[in-house]
Amino acid sequence: MKNVPEIYGSMVFNDAVMRQRLPKEVYKSLTKTIATGNMIDVSIANVVANAMKDWAIEKGATHYTHWFQPLTSVTAEKHDSFISPVAADQVVMEFSGKELIKGEPDASSFPSGGLRETCNARGYTAWDPSSYAFVKDDTLYIPTVFCSYTGEALDSKTPLLRSMDVISREALRILALFGDTASQRVATTVGAEQEYFLVNKKYYDQREDLLFTGRTLFGAPAPKGQELEDHYFGPLKTKVAEFMSELDCELWKLGISSKTKHNEVAPSQHELAPIFATTNAAVDQNLVIMETMKKIAEKHGMVALLHEKPYEGVNGSGKHNNWSISTDTGKNLLDPGSDPASNTQFLLFLSAIIKAVDDYQDLLRLSVASAGNDHRLGANEAPPAIVSMFVGDELEEIIDSIVGDVDYKAKGKRTMDLGVPSVPTFRYDSTDRNRTSPFAFTGNKFEFRMLGSSQNIAMPNIVLNSAVAKVCRDFADRLEKAEDLEADAKKLIKETLTAHRRIVFNGDGYSDEWPVEAEKRGLLNLKTSVDVYPCLTKEKNISLFTELGVMSEVELRAREEILFENYAKIINIEALTMIDMAKKQIIPAVEEYVLSVAKTAEAKRGLCSEEDCLYVEKELVSKLSKLNSQTYKAVEKLGELEKKVQDIEDTDKRAVAFKDVVIPAMAELRKSVDEMEMLVPKKLWPLPSYGEMTYCQ
Ligand code: ADP
Ligand code: MG
Repeated sequence: MKNVPEIYGSMVFNDAVMRQRLPKEVYKSLTKTIATGNMIDVSIANVVANAMKDWAIEKGATHYTHWFQPLTSVTAEKHDSFISPVAADQVVMEFSGKELIKGEPDASSFPSGGLRETCNARGYTAWDPSSYAFVKDDTLYIPTVFCSYTGEALDSKTPLLRSMDVISREALRILALFGDTASQRVATTVGAEQEYFLVNKKYYDQREDLLFTGRTLFGAPAPKGQELEDHYFGPLKTKVAEFMSELDCELWKLGISSKTKHNEVAPSQHELAPIFATTNAAVDQNLVIMETMKKIAEKHGMVALLHEKPYEGVNGSGKHNNWSISTDTGKNLLDPGSDPASNTQFLLFLSAIIKAVDDYQDLLRLSVASAGNDHRLGANEAPPAIVSMFVGDELEEIIDSIVGDVDYKAKGKRTMDLGVPSVPTFRYDSTDRNRTSPFAFTGNKFEFRMLGSSQNIAMPNIVLNSAVAKVCRDFADRLEKAEDLEADAKKLIKETLTAHRRIVFNGDGYSDEWPVEAEKRGLLNLKTSVDVYPCLTKEKNISLFTELGVMSEVELRAREEILFENYAKIINIEALTMIDMAKKQIIPAVEEYVLSVAKTAEAKRGLCSEEDCLYVEKELVSKLSKLNSQTYKAVEKLGELEKKVQDIEDTDKRAVAFKDVVIPAMAELRKSVDEMEMLVPKKLWPLPSYGEMTYCQ
């Protein structure tokens, strides 16, 4: 049994370590920097760096790295050792304040969307003191932001930190109106539930598609899928339980409060949820969770698949971004209290969020759009591609009473009595669960459910923070001039809810009626990534980010370019992988089998004379020859189209062509291959089957 409180955070340079190891004045100055988000004083950086280094060396570190989040979905790190020569054959371990504060990786190979010429490849990383440094794999990890020589953000963290600042500033203005002058900072908090699949490494290694693209590009369905729903919350297999236990332990050491783990809906699918944290810490932690999952899985002979759709026909993986706002004095601003109908401050924040989600539905949709997530959103399992909000019956009734000018009568809390004397009665929650809503109020937080499992959660939070900050700013501008705050706030709430009532939908988001109804309400239904990417640079969205100082127009245009480029690259790799697998593995395997069946027929000839004597052989040879020809033709066609599309100069047009032209050709190829898989003996089929991969971990 591990001593959890003892190991928890043991590899993190956290507040307790800082207090213990830094001179009092330095500690005070650093914590002030962290709390206020202000610049660090250079004079104290040397002291901090030295203390950090000594501590890291005690934890086994020999190197340090500026850890950053370039505009790919993975993190980047370059390791430098602490060694510094003092004599011809002698070194000491050194780490200066300068090295802590600033790094200078060659930025030329990270996506920049044209922000940085390759010849001017200089990029900088700068320490983010608001996220704790930690030791992992004998290296001191220093969370940093990443920007170009000219100061444009080339990462996800910079705009995230900016968005956290603006929401703090604008929400504080509203709080001040309601008499809260004690709060110094407002922070958004995030708890990200992470879904993933585990597959046996033995099978993974045999599949080029998994290796190169993270998902299977071929594969006939297994006889048993998830229809019995016996995997969800089912008991953990020993191997999986051992993996999860080690994963928890590693995460706890890194100060990540892994709390909940369970089996998910699909076979071999699981979930991990940590306890929520301040948004930028939660973003960093989610990235560490994904990396650690992969590393620990390998130690247990498995691979963690973070792709949104590893298996066709089986539920995909997402991420739920639980989001709330609270003050540094510990108040959750989304807590409705016992009487939400007369809680003006709560209703004001609720209206602000409703307006923000309605006004910026396109950006929220964009923040989760990727080639991988296109397989889920709108495909009848994850939330639909239409952004709407669920607020629960109680809040919906309150909203309707405000909009319709009728008195709201609170129903009072109902209690649940199961009629079993030994089971205590308990209260109903005021919001039931609605699994189909993309953005659901769950008591004192919103759960944004459209995120893809592999994505960095920064962008959805940048959008949420910015959109809500913008509305808070407009509200504060107006209410600061109010003569009667209560009356004017109520008027503003009514106006806002009336104008944005359309985004609230408590019904079934998977039903066929919803898209029709949503269209009537004028809500957007942007089905694929390439439909939504151009929204980033719509005028209203450029205004949002530039006015708040979260992203400049140049940064936004660069990001749009990167999104399109990334999409095109992903589909291109998938197409090339399919071609390779079909040509080198599948077509030859089928030919070989057809030959052996033909030989069998040959050998049997003359030995039997019944009508059906060669029935099986004839059928197989004929069916497989036909399917293999179709496959061959489909490969050639895909190859030609891929080349043509790849030559399209404009990135956005290229991405659109990949979607419109290459994806259908990939589907055609897959169809004939999957049909052949059902006809070829297991031992001759070159790829592990869906059944093996999803049931034999
Ligand atoms: P479910 O699976 O029912 O959606 P879980 O309990 O698995 O719920 O996950 C809920 C997540 O929400 C957890 O990560 C939890 O820490 C997080 N959470 C709870 N309160 C807040 C809050 N105020 N702000 C952000 N996240 C929160
Ligand atoms: Mg959830």
